[in-house]
Amino acid sequence: MPERKSQHWADRIVDQILAQPHPEDHVYHIVTGITPSGRIHIGNLREVLTADVIYRILQERGKKAKLFYVADDYDPLRKVYPFLDPQKYQKFVGHPLSDIPCPCDQHPSYAEHFLEPFLASMSQLKIDLTVLRASELYKGGRYNQVIIQALEARDTIAEILFRLTGKEIDEFWSPFVPICESCGSMAETKVIGWDRERELVGYLCQQCQNQGWVPVQGHGKLTWRVDWPARWSFLNVDIEPMGKDHGSKGGSYDTGQEIVRRVFHKEPPFPIVYEWIRLEGMGDMSSSKGNVVAIEDVLKVVPADVLRYLIIKALPKQRINFDPVNQLLNVFDEVDNEQAKYRDPRSLELSLASGFVPIKVPFNHLISIVQIAGGDPARVSAILKRGGYQIPESSAKELEERCRYALNWLEHFAPAEYRFSVAESIPQSVQSLTPSQRRVLGKLSDLLSTMLSQKEEKDISAEEIHRSFYEAAQQEKDLSIKEVFQAFYTALIDKEHGPRAGWFVKTIGVEFVQKRLAEASAIEA
Ligand SMILES: [Zn+2]
Ligand SMILES: [Zn+2]
Repeated sequence: MPERKSQHWADRIVDQILAQPHPEDHVYHIVTGITPSGRIHIGNLREVLTADVIYRILQERGKKAKLFYVADDYDPLRKVYPFLDPQKYQKFVGHPLSDIPCPCDQHPSYAEHFLEPFLASMSQLKIDLTVLRASELYKGGRYNQVIIQALEARDTIAEILFRLTGKEIDEFWSPFVPICESCGSMAETKVIGWDRERELVGYLCQQCQNQGWVPVQGHGKLTWRVDWPARWSFLNVDIEPMGKDHGSKGGSYDTGQEIVRRVFHKEPPFPIVYEWIRLEGMGDMSSSKGNVVAIEDVLKVVPADVLRYLIIKALPKQRINFDPVNQLLNVFDEVDNEQAKYRDPRSLELSLASGFVPIKVPFNHLISIVQIAGGDPARVSAILKRGGYQIPESSAKELEERCRYALNWLEHFAPAEYRFSVAESIPQSVQSLTPSQRRVLGKLSDLLSTMLSQKEEKDISAEEIHRSFYEAAQQEKDLSIKEVFQAFYTALIDKEHGPRAGWFVKTIGVEFVQKRLAEASAIEA
């Protein structure tokens, strides 16, 4: 009998990686890299999570592995992004991100401003990263050797780039981009000489007209298409996830493969190409467009396991439409009600991060209850118990945390129709209801009153309350059921829509609602 293999994409990738010959004690280097030029968003998270699952599986299989994150903080600021103050940042365009002041003045640099929350999220997501900063690699001399190799092989690289991308390479093109000593920018510097003996680069800055000779260390960087294969060579990269732009034909992986073999004499890493994450209704997430959802914001509304699961369960080549309203709540429920255990147990296993404890309350439901209970976990717990949910004492902490998630979700992501609060007294807007709408509220109140006279409040079910809305509507022939509900929500929460009516009445108290509706029906227009 053949061994039954996991069908999970990450297991299949690891099968392929391990099929390649490596010494038994080989330490697999998995590398990810993200430029901290803006908020690092959940589109970027896909890169790191893809690397992380491969890392976890290699360890499961008894292999040694190391997971690196290279912060590309030596990249230049490309432009003044919409989220930046142009007054402050215009002059820093072209400067390395590690050398620019941070937007809030609380961090050592622009790059660190965006790195700090990202790295905090990584630890919440239990991603065990070894962090390297490109600025430190360059300034510390780790790149010296490869820069020299690249300068020596300038013509070979230019030929590869032209052949594979079809783009004209002008005669001044250089794999090295110097940073101008005078103005600090690398936006318009040109290499005009290479002194092989003294290992100095001659440059001209077309921005400030400064000209000079500088050593390679800490005075510039390789262009992206050369930087990447150079990094593969000295970090001994075995595996690297990459966005589909890099992985396409003529993309930087394509050119990098040939450059790393011919110039740096190493093999390229095993590529894992992934699709973008789009923000529902807003296109691909991109820091420069500003349509991003930051990782730390999602971790305020769902546990780390849920966010991991949402991304890990999709094939890397599958586009993810991130929708913080429907999709996020559904995935939260899938993990919480343990359907995930049956639907995709392997993804769930690879998503474990925070010691998730299910409480089996639909998140949507909790969002309503939290609002009724004014955010008080004790009241939430009481309401849930009345509604038939069994929350053991030992889960009190989880419930408290869920309440916090629900409140954060309402604050960060909720569309207006999800938010409500029960009005303390009859809202003014009741006066604008039609006479028949006010009459129907009286009828509803009578029906509830009848129920209360027949049994105890706790024995009245949400379903029978819900039915009474239809009964009342039948008695008031010129009203549609929609107008009945509209009148009801106006009297209770001063809105035209709200949570499911029968259940809502049961939650806030049948007697309370009965009295409120009687009062509302008696109001003079
Ligand atoms: Zn800052
Ligand atoms: Zn300059």
